[in-house]
Amino acid sequence: MPELPEVEAVRVGLARHVVGRTVTAVEVFDPRPLRRQEGGAEAFVRGLTGRTLTAAVRRGKLMWLPLDDGAALRAHLGMSGQLLVRGTAPLDGPDPDPNPSRYLLEPGQTPADLTATRATSLVRDLSARPRHLRVRLHLSGREGDPQHQAAGAGGAPGSGGAALDLVDQRMFGGLHLTRLVPTADGGPGGLGSEQPLLPEDATHIARDLLDPHLDRAAVVARVRASSRAVKTLLMDQSIVSGVGNIYADEGLWAARIHGLRPGNALGPRVLARLLDATAGIMGRALAVGGTSFDALYVDAEGAAGFFARSLAVYGRQGEVCRRCGTPLRTETIGGRSHTSCPRCQTRPRPRRLPH
Ligand SMILES: [Zn+2]
Repeated sequence: MPELPEVEAVRVGLARHVVGRTVTAVEVFDPRPLRRQEGGAEAFVRGLTGRTLTAAVRRGKLMWLPLDDGAALRAHLGMSGQLLVRGTAPLDGPDPDPNPSRYLLEPGQTPADLTATRATSLVRDLSARPRHLRVRLHLSGREGDPQHQAAGAGGAPGSGGAALDLVDQRMFGGLHLTRLVPTADGGPGGLGSEQPLLPEDATHIARDLLDPHLDRAAVVARVRASSRAVKTLLMDQSIVSGVGNIYADEGLWAARIHGLRPGNALGPRVLARLLDATAGIMGRALAVGGTSFDALYVDAEGAAGFFARSLAVYGRQGEVCRRCGTPLRTETIGGRSHTSCPRCQTRPRPRRLPH
């Protein structure tokens, strides 16, 4: 699953390339990603056509694009979902991966269209359809778009147009329209908008660790009030959102806490250290576009993340602790793997194990 830094990389790409554009047409190649949509594909197309995307907002791993009619487009990436932008200006700076689309194409198919955000000469070509393309939103032109360059490429809805594609191999991702409701604390719904609104089907999702409006003292108090394993509490999206298995393991290792320690056995300073450590690791991952250990996962601009190689424990079972050289161990907590250092992260005594 993409974690917060990966979702944030996608949000930044959407904010840069699609916000301010109007949906001129919607093509549904496969209705399954619209399964969460009330009224099905027809309602999705009707509700989205003609609407302008006004922002790209994220809370935890949840992302939405508010529309100019007060509703919002929710996007779930699932295991393999990708939102790819085409037809906009190329990025500045060197391209870290000249062919990021190679994972997605049929043999013999040209990869040109998926590098649309990078290759100016090809940005107008919306005719090629990547394998596993499920839904395509055609978007209006926007100030700053390059001039129409690839005349006769076909499929482009005129000069300055763009498209947003949902490409998903494994079909766990999806899109749907939802109403926005006021936030419980009156603060912004998430990063990317000052509006104190969030999707009505997401009101149970707490603020995330990188949200400046997060009440950290309240998080510490809730963890300390529970006898559940601290790793389970750290991943409880109703307490604090956005921490998945990777960053939970990394944060616990950095704070030298075994994931099975009960929340109520940990002091406020230890928990503050855990939250700081986890937030710091996610912040660093965010700076490089997420871990992206799954080759299928790339951001909205088709770029892969480069953080995976710097992970301390996740995916390193059998290797040694980077701090003390002890071989790492892996066990299961709440149905998820937990990799830790037996020496740096002392396991609680059996009588303290949660049931
Ligand atoms: Zn160690």
